[in-house]
Amino acid sequence: MTRIVDKLLRCFVCGTLSEQRLPYSTHSRGSPDLDGRPPEMARSTMPVWVQTCPECGYCATELSQGDPSAREAVQRPTYQEQLHAADTPFLANRFLCLALLKEAAGRDADAAQQRLHAAWVADDAQERALAHKYRSAVADALLARREALRRWRGDEADWKGVERVFLVDVLRRAGRFDEARREVDAALQQGVSSIVRQLLGFEYTLLEHEDVGPHTRDEALRGSSLQEAPPPEVIPLVSYIQRYYSEWMTPQEEKALSMGKLRTPEGEQWATDDPQVLALLAGGKHAIVHALEQRLLTEHPGKVFINRCPKCGGLARTPQARQCRYCPHTWRE
Ligand SMILES: [Zn+2]
Ligand SMILES: [Zn+2]
Repeated sequence: MTRIVDKLLRCFVCGTLSEQRLPYSTHSRGSPDLDGRPPEMARSTMPVWVQTCPECGYCATELSQGDPSAREAVQRPTYQEQLHAADTPFLANRFLCLALLKEAAGRDADAAQQRLHAAWVADDAQERALAHKYRSAVADALLARREALRRWRGDEADWKGVERVFLVDVLRRAGRFDEARREVDAALQQGVSSIVRQLLGFEYTLLEHEDVGPHTRDEALRGSSLQEAPPPEVIPLVSYIQRYYSEWMTPQEEKALSMGKLRTPEGEQWATDDPQVLALLAGGKHAIVHALEQRLLTEHPGKVFINRCPKCGGLARTPQARQCRYCPHTWRE
């Protein structure tokens, strides 16, 4: 289910009030494209990813907020020409305007993301030449600023070299096959995690066929010796700590608690190369979550409460609950 809400917002640049549509919640099922485009339903909510002031033309993901540089940038002729360009889909213009503002604010990775959104709009409108052009601009920006690429994509999956898959996919879909192949070779030489090697191998095959179409991550892993393992068993204490006490967890602990597994020819492995996270997971999820419970109780006495049923020991749903979800027992103080 996707929920969109209408809201009256005051423009950050000119102060005009206007009604805007905001994404409230959405669910996605399935695998993203190799360039990060989400599956449905999130895919269809693109028109509400950017808001536009009807008065001054300011484009933003949240119209009432922005970087101070936007006040001057929306006045520029290049900005206004882009917003009103008649030969591009209107939604693409708005993403490209957003990209201009991100560039004015010195946020290269965000700008590249917005140009990529414009490419997705062009894909949907069957505007091949425009889609190539926008992707090429994304590729140029990322080739020039590799640290921006790592900042942007390096964290999305915990696999060494995953940002290279993204760059290769953008180059391939822009028709820049030779450069894409060089990126694959360079990445393999530098060493990447086994799942990234699999994804790059898939890209290599697409490059051989000069295929510029969209392909999903699932597709890239299908039939390979590497598969995402089925979701692990649900451990109530994990979700309880994640929900109520995540503020006291280290980034590595957070990562470890939500880590999934891969099936490889050598058996199941945690889907990470991070040595600290692997060390935490060495004893499995039960071990790390019980160690975490002890640490939180010791370091935050009186603030952390692991609410267990006095009768059966089952974990209650919330720190305030007075009713067991496993046995009929209820308790009052
Ligand atoms: Zn405005
Ligand atoms: Zn109980």
